[in-house]
Amino acid sequence: MRVAMTLLICSLATAQRMPELGVKARHYLVDLIRLDTTNPPGNETRVAEYLKQVASANGIGCELLGADPSRLNFVARLPGAEQRSRPLLLIAHSDVVPADRAQWTADPFAGQLKHGYIYGRGAQDDKSLLAAELAVLVELKHRGAKLNRDIILLSESDEEAGSSGISWLIQNAYPKIDAEFALNEGGAGLDTRGGTRVFQIQTSEKVPSRVILTARGVAGHGSLPRPDNAVVHLARAIERLADADQPVRLNTTTRRYLGEIVKLADYRWLAPLLPKLEDPSTAAAAADEIRSKDVELNAMLRTSISPTMLEAGLKINVIPNVALAKLDVRRLPNETREEVEARFREIVNDPAVEISREQGQDMPATEPSSLTTSLYVTMDKVFRESHPESIVVPYMSRGATDGSYLRQKGMAVYGVPIFMREGGESRAHGNDERISPANLTRGVELLWKIVTAAAE
Ligand SMILES: [Zn+2]
Repeated sequence: MRVAMTLLICSLATAQRMPELGVKARHYLVDLIRLDTTNPPGNETRVAEYLKQVASANGIGCELLGADPSRLNFVARLPGAEQRSRPLLLIAHSDVVPADRAQWTADPFAGQLKHGYIYGRGAQDDKSLLAAELAVLVELKHRGAKLNRDIILLSESDEEAGSSGISWLIQNAYPKIDAEFALNEGGAGLDTRGGTRVFQIQTSEKVPSRVILTARGVAGHGSLPRPDNAVVHLARAIERLADADQPVRLNTTTRRYLGEIVKLADYRWLAPLLPKLEDPSTAAAAADEIRSKDVELNAMLRTSISPTMLEAGLKINVIPNVALAKLDVRRLPNETREEVEARFREIVNDPAVEISREQGQDMPATEPSSLTTSLYVTMDKVFRESHPESIVVPYMSRGATDGSYLRQKGMAVYGVPIFMREGGESRAHGNDERISPANLTRGVELLWKIVTAAAE
């Protein structure tokens, strides 16, 4: 009887409190958007202090860690009653990319509700996830949930520019964040035209491998064309690289991803092309056909090159002796940087053009996280049950995250697709970044189910 009563009380509490999760997450998200953590310069301590205040008010132990007082990381831990298993780590970075106010229709740092959406820099990347993780942690504490493992919440600084936050933590405080597995950004849910909901769990990511092309020639008067004009050599090199087919290479994640989505009506056209991708003699042509229909899928098949910056010349009538281009290269994780650069040299095939590395983020290439951990299996179940017609697929993101540093340490890291891509588009890093309260609420409830199933 007592057991039955307890069960009844528990389920009543569940029914009553669930809406509160969404309300809490929304409240936290608006507060977090209002704390401007544009990186550079970051000032992420603002968010770390806020999180500390919420955690402390709810009796959750936490600390601020880091080398730079203005860029501290936040780590909280909810201890498991029995530590039968190693911890579960929840991650969400505290910085955001810059927002050009002139290009927004709402103040990017006001968290304003407009046309049914919460607007703000970080509304998608990554303060919505942070708000959801915080809400789940606070709720677990309120309920006095009996956890079979510790749950750690990490909000690290500088994910968007240099990953100095996660790097510092790994070097100086790794035991504080060490876990069996982690939930992070990078996943996404989307609805196909056929009505199937696809939950993409990010298990792997492409690796930023930025490159500088420097063409050198002899300076001279613009009235006398020269064959060694640096601008011309640079332009040719860019064109050769942009036109060249980079080799197609699948990995366990992309192979499984393609094998699953091809079953959907929207992607039936892929069926005859998939076997061709596996055959080196037909792979490039098959990938080109895929590119003509879906540029996102193409980017999943090979290393990609986007020329983004150009620099040359001071005056229209002076031939410059040097011209420079920067390329945003996203490498497949199963190719090395050296392999890619050697291939680029071959493609450019011009001794006047030097290929070098741009400074900045240098994430490690790692194996995809396993699809057989209890956390992956739990996510698969929760997501499939959340929608009548859905599939769950492992996914390699084009964008990089701090997850790669933890994968390199042997941790299984998953980009958790609790939020839907609204209106078929992502506004992360774009103008008018926003999320609907309904999306946020569904997301935090999904996160709650995953975390409780993994830790109770
Ligand atoms: Zn992010």
